Amino acid sequence: MLTTISPGFHRIALPTPFAVGDVNAYLIETEPLTVIDCGVRTPQARQTLADDLTQLGYTVRDIRRLFITHHHVDHVGLAEDIVRESGAQVWTHPFNCPWLEAPDQTRAMSSTFTEKFFRANGVPDEALRLLDTSNRFLTKLAGTVKVDVTVEEGDSLDLLGRTWQVYHTPGHAGGMVCLYQPDTCMMLSSDHLLRDVSSNALIEPPMPPETERPRRLLDYIREIERMAKLEIEVAHTGHGEPIYDVRSRVTARFVFYQQRADKLYGLFGGQPQQLYTLTQHLFPKIASSELYLTLSETLGHLDLLERDGRVKQEVHNEMTYWLPSDT
Ligand SMILES: [Zn+2]
Repeated sequence: MLTTISPGFHRIALPTPFAVGDVNAYLIETEPLTVIDCGVRTPQARQTLADDLTQLGYTVRDIRRLFITHHHVDHVGLAEDIVRESGAQVWTHPFNCPWLEAPDQTRAMSSTFTEKFFRANGVPDEALRLLDTSNRFLTKLAGTVKVDVTVEEGDSLDLLGRTWQVYHTPGHAGGMVCLYQPDTCMMLSSDHLLRDVSSNALIEPPMPPETERPRRLLDYIREIERMAKLEIEVAHTGHGEPIYDVRSRVTARFVFYQQRADKLYGLFGGQPQQLYTLTQHLFPKIASSELYLTLSETLGHLDLLERDGRVKQEVHNEMTYWLPSDT
């Protein structure tokens, strides 16, 4: 579905097979004609993109630049098809390159890490198989594409005669970039800031593999704190409607994280616990298909408790246990 935000600046909502619903791509009628993010690789998403472009007098072949905000399949899925048809240049943060240029190998590397990590954190075989199945499903929803231009924190790009600043905001994904226009106070926040759902700080493998696991919720909290210091009139998001009250939403998130961390701490009952058990207690009603999300949420809050000195980790027989610091 097409929504015109301002002259030359349009939102294209593309269908996804995920609970979150449509993902937002943006078409900017600038030189070069730019699309930001591009939906999953399904016939439905491809058709919607083509139909909405037609309404504006364009075809996929007219796209000259495809800007990718982060590596998740609902944002990169159609990139291969778009580039094949149009020859568009792909722009993104360097962190996303392995996911775009060698998705199968990168996903396999990620699975190797998560399987070992989850096993050590008490996730049973049956749940691991479920996680593997959903990972295989994801690989079908995105193609392979070469990145032409990388952008990093502090870079800028020109859209419709105005300079947009690149902010690297790891958290929801390590390579997440937001674009900010300081004169109009507009932000393209992708999944970094969403209006109707919380932005999950998903577990990611360390890159390179031998380094330490990223603490994505801690990254995320640091980065929304930074966003809250900017003057933002409106943030156009990766899913759903725009946000007009960024600062108060960020404040509400901080309160929420603290409450959830307190609740999680309360679940220990003074005993050593594993990530999987804590996840089941923290999210008793959430479907097993959402396990990656709930494990990520729980781990993020354990990282938060650890940062604040309230819990620590211990390893016994290759199994990781978390326990209150004062036990
Ligand atoms: Zn995402």
